[in-house]
Amino acid sequence: MVRDLSTLAKYPFLNDTKQFIKENGPSINELLEGLFYERARTIGIERLDNAFKNGDVGNRSLASNTDRIMEIFSYPIARMVAVSVGNNYFKRRYALGEAIHAYKNLLNERPNFLVDVSKELNIYTEYLENLGIIKVFFKDYLRYAPTRYKKWKMVNRDMDDGYVKISIRDITRLILESLRIRIEKELDSRKSNKTIEKVFSSEIKRFKEIVNVHRKKIEEAPVGKLSYEKLPPCMKDILTAIQAGENVPHMGRFALVSFLNSLQLSTNEILKIFSNAPDYQEERTRYQVEHITGSSSSTSYKSPGCDKMRTYGICPVEKMDELCREIRHPLSYYSAKWKKEKNKK
Ligand code: SF4
Repeated sequence: MVRDLSTLAKYPFLNDTKQFIKENGPSINELLEGLFYERARTIGIERLDNAFKNGDVGNRSLASNTDRIMEIFSYPIARMVAVSVGNNYFKRRYALGEAIHAYKNLLNERPNFLVDVSKELNIYTEYLENLGIIKVFFKDYLRYAPTRYKKWKMVNRDMDDGYVKISIRDITRLILESLRIRIEKELDSRKSNKTIEKVFSSEIKRFKEIVNVHRKKIEEAPVGKLSYEKLPPCMKDILTAIQAGENVPHMGRFALVSFLNSLQLSTNEILKIFSNAPDYQEERTRYQVEHITGSSSSTSYKSPGCDKMRTYGICPVEKMDELCREIRHPLSYYSAKWKKEKNKK
């Protein structure tokens, strides 16, 4: 093992930590039920609570070796429980919480360590010590850089022989994104475990309830002129998927934003709707919304009609109702629902 316990505790996703767990780890029964690991189990749940509430799995003391060991073993516990909660929004929120926590710690690390971590996460990098910068293979840069921001656009970067030169601080941002994606994928590929479900039954139940309350709040919250109940099935689907942290294709986001824009919702009101997504990033979403609504460009895009929605594969045909069959545009669906309600009064 190359790294010390303190480093492993701070970065439990590293290969060295996995190796440590493999070599020194207790049996799964000991970990889940043994008295010695009770603190690790408590911290595992704390990681999830913190990630859900604060967007960061949180800091704990790593002063003693026992502290560090408990921190290390809390990581697999948190992951197993997250899988057993079985909710995408919850898993996304947790993955982001781990990545943000690692990012904050990485900001204080030395360049060579950052290069090693990025390589473990398949970001090909090299430290140019004499220049005090890091070069990143351009494909990896494009995969993880927030290129919607001016500073991160390729035209504003110095590129040489397939490598982009970036500052030492900037590599931590690429690591954050790569780690978030990796943890999400890992959680998605795991199946819930019966023992975990039994040992953590009350916590799993509590997390499921928290997620349900959160979802209900979103569904019931009237935003400006928007009534969730009157949305057509296609928009309800896109909205729910965004808020559940699912991968929504670009056309889905485009259709929803242009639809909301047609309902005269302001950029801030649209952002409020998106802000419930587990991986919500205000600046990024604002940029995308303003581009579609025309506030940052010369074009305001029109909301697509039902034919186009079907062509893009974002009209959920199986959920179409009677009203869907009478109209040809999601906006007509929404206004027809309003009219029906008005006529009832
Ligand atoms: S028919 Fe139109 S309004 Fe209804 S779900 Fe499909 S796209 Fe939406």
